Amino acid sequence: MKKFIVACSALLVGFVAVAQNDCYWQQHVDYRMEVDMDVKTFRYTGTQELVYTNNSPDVLDKVFYHLYFNAFQPGSEMDVRLKTIEDPDKRMVTNKGTKEEPEFESRIGKLKPDEIGYLDVKSLAQDGKPVVYDAEGTIVEVKLASPLKPGTSAKLVMEFEGQVPLQIRRSGRNSAESVALSMTQWYPKLAEYDAEGWHADPYIGREFHGVWGNFDVKISIDKDYIIGGTGNLQNGDEIGYGYEKPGTKVKRKGKKLTWHFIAPDVHDFAWAADPEYIHDTLETPGGVTLHFLYKDKAEIKENWKNLQPKTAALLDFYNKNIGPYPWKQYSVIQGGDGGMEYAMCTLITGERSFGSLVGVTAHEMAHAWFQHLLATNESKHPWMDEGFTSFISDLAENEIMERNKQNPFENAYRSYFMLAMSGKEQPQTTHGDRYAMNMAYSYAAYSKGEVFLAQLGYIIGQDKLMETLRKYYEDFKFKHPTPNDFKRVAEKVSGFQLDWYLTDWTMTTNTIDYGIKAVKESGDSTKVTLERIGLMPMPIDVLVVYNDDTYETFYAPLRMMHGEKANPYPNLERTVLPSWAWAYPTYEFSIGRPKSDIKAIVIDPSELMADVDKSNNAISFE
Ligand SMILES: [Zn+2]
Repeated sequence: MKKFIVACSALLVGFVAVAQNDCYWQQHVDYRMEVDMDVKTFRYTGTQELVYTNNSPDVLDKVFYHLYFNAFQPGSEMDVRLKTIEDPDKRMVTNKGTKEEPEFESRIGKLKPDEIGYLDVKSLAQDGKPVVYDAEGTIVEVKLASPLKPGTSAKLVMEFEGQVPLQIRRSGRNSAESVALSMTQWYPKLAEYDAEGWHADPYIGREFHGVWGNFDVKISIDKDYIIGGTGNLQNGDEIGYGYEKPGTKVKRKGKKLTWHFIAPDVHDFAWAADPEYIHDTLETPGGVTLHFLYKDKAEIKENWKNLQPKTAALLDFYNKNIGPYPWKQYSVIQGGDGGMEYAMCTLITGERSFGSLVGVTAHEMAHAWFQHLLATNESKHPWMDEGFTSFISDLAENEIMERNKQNPFENAYRSYFMLAMSGKEQPQTTHGDRYAMNMAYSYAAYSKGEVFLAQLGYIIGQDKLMETLRKYYEDFKFKHPTPNDFKRVAEKVSGFQLDWYLTDWTMTTNTIDYGIKAVKESGDSTKVTLERIGLMPMPIDVLVVYNDDTYETFYAPLRMMHGEKANPYPNLERTVLPSWAWAYPTYEFSIGRPKSDIKAIVIDPSELMADVDKSNNAISFE
């Protein structure tokens, strides 16, 4: 143990130490790629020079790469999963039956050889020495020619060849909205190695995890194609299409153009290309350039123009409420099959109503923070990126679209309640690919994840919640935070103990149900008995409404939290009661007025506590 600690602290010299962990480290990679795309055959070849630095305390004798495009082949895990899951993703199947009695056919299973996706390693060498590698499905395992010692780097040079699949999920050619190339998960991507070990997850459907680093990417493509993507374009004056400095005369020579992008401090690189893109830019006051690339179609143009100032407002909202966007550009690109987040950009479908276009942009842009800056492992903790993103984008939309909802999270609560009552719920600690149903995954990741934060506001107070998000950004930007890291930030900001919350909410399917059991007159006062019916603990706010239309609140802190939140209703008088320890199923307190004075008693009038049975939460004496 002692030896291990010494090794770790030695590594932290010259490396950013994280105060939260005694021994945090993260791997580093610098990619240099040159690819050549044939827009007729949808095949591409490339070379990849990758410098991999081992910041771990371990000697590495192997590395893994992802070859995501291999998922788009008949018989792949992704294909078989589509054929065996009860509720397949509708985008990935064709319904051969009726609406009432559907019979789904996997679209991957039907791909012809010239329509499948693939990514083949043609050669691979470490510092000039050929290495042994073995590709299976979407992962290639590489035995290093010489083991990589802690604190050292190796140069891995790879030649690869790929074919872009027909668009089925996220990436591909000829999308439903006829975008030519949605190039996401397209290159051999080094798998992440961290304190938990290797994350060489097969590509079955769920999301990603990657190594932090820098990308230098050159893409050669027919000169009619316009690209949007990750990174800062280095040769805009040669390319044009709105990337040139104003007033520059652009002369495009030859059949192909080579686009040169550099992306610093990211963990992925994506792009899209189409000969019919319109490219608009908007400079924001903070110096970030927003790019919009969308098809030149009369019926969508107005929406895409109106989207631009809304995107600037969203950027401003996230900058203020989470922390400053650190890169120079963000691109909203029509492509893909719905909406998916990438470094410095998103690919979204664009033939939508204006509200939906803003909604999907709000969501995907928020992922620039909750995934591309605070890079949680999306496979293992999908609720941290989807839930947190949904939380902040619902808040942002409420403000920017002037929805003025009292509870902007109400849809998430509704979906969570459906999940909790469905009998199909699995704990949020389930790996994203291992949920029995897509429905259970979506509600657990998006809705229950969003409620995790909204409800934390109930537990520690709204101000402390927002302060927690800002501190989380400060402490963990450009890192791989875990659920416990987030919990520790919330604990430090609030001063409360919150392990019970993380444990019960994310690792179990325990539910919250509190009720009013009895209200009895007792001389000049009234005795109220509350009851804990569900297994999950909570602190309890109670509102009492009197017949003279005055209000009073009572607060029963949760004993294991060891603290009291600030009064959430500062204009109402609040009585802080003795703490309620979880094991006691009932709890009694006194209201200092006779029962005849009381109009109603309500548990949690904010409804931010996700109580699965509200029927016992309020009692009225009218
Ligand atoms: Zn998302």
